[in-house]
Amino acid sequence: MKSCYLTIDDSPSIHTGDMVNFLAKRDIPALLFVRGDLVAQNPAPIVNAIQHGFYIGNHSYGHRPYGEMSYDECIADIKSCEDEIEKCYKVAGVSRPGKYFRFPYLDRGNGDRVERHFDSVANVDINDDEKITALQNYLKNMGFHQPFKKCAHPLYDNPSIKAAADCLMTFTSYDWMLTTRHIGKWPFHSIDDLKKRIDQDHNLQNSEGNILIFHDQSETFETFQSLIDHMIERDYTFLSFP
Ligand SMILES: [Zn+2]
Repeated sequence: MKSCYLTIDDSPSIHTGDMVNFLAKRDIPALLFVRGDLVAQNPAPIVNAIQHGFYIGNHSYGHRPYGEMSYDECIADIKSCEDEIEKCYKVAGVSRPGKYFRFPYLDRGNGDRVERHFDSVANVDINDDEKITALQNYLKNMGFHQPFKKCAHPLYDNPSIKAAADCLMTFTSYDWMLTTRHIGKWPFHSIDDLKKRIDQDHNLQNSEGNILIFHDQSETFETFQSLIDHMIERDYTFLSFP
């Protein structure tokens, strides 16, 4: 069975309200990783998402690469985003289901971007670094964990990936490659290119519980809608979070 967890990074944007309606209409659950700085400016769409049953995760306050910050700066940044998320749950009148964290750029603290190594990371301990380990311990102590119980992607055979306190992923939509800043500089140039990529991904076709990354930015909403509807046409199931 083809099934996925839908995660969306960088909320809120001007489209968050429409995105929530789009997903709610199709009965698709999602975990939104929010930027604390953007929530502080505009909490209403996140409060609304919570009230519609969507889960909220911490995607840092300032969206800076954690490899460029000291351990103490990283912790302060995580906490600042936590404060904004807690406020949203309070205003929404909903109790928080769990704590989830995703590093900006998937830079888990050492300046590297772990997704770049996913083809060759099978036997590597991805937490084998002093600062990464310290951040992992902090996140674990604060109750952060991954909610992807059904993930059967081969990456999750790696115990260090499975045990990570932060949320990783198994398939990135590359929706950002079509934004003004990036278009033409990367291998995928159109929504059709990205649809083909989905259709050609072996693990997406053959393993349950793939973890998808999409983005909620000013220029990604059209791509988002097209790709999600494409996946519905291709009979993907979108899994609920526990
Ligand atoms: Zn991000």
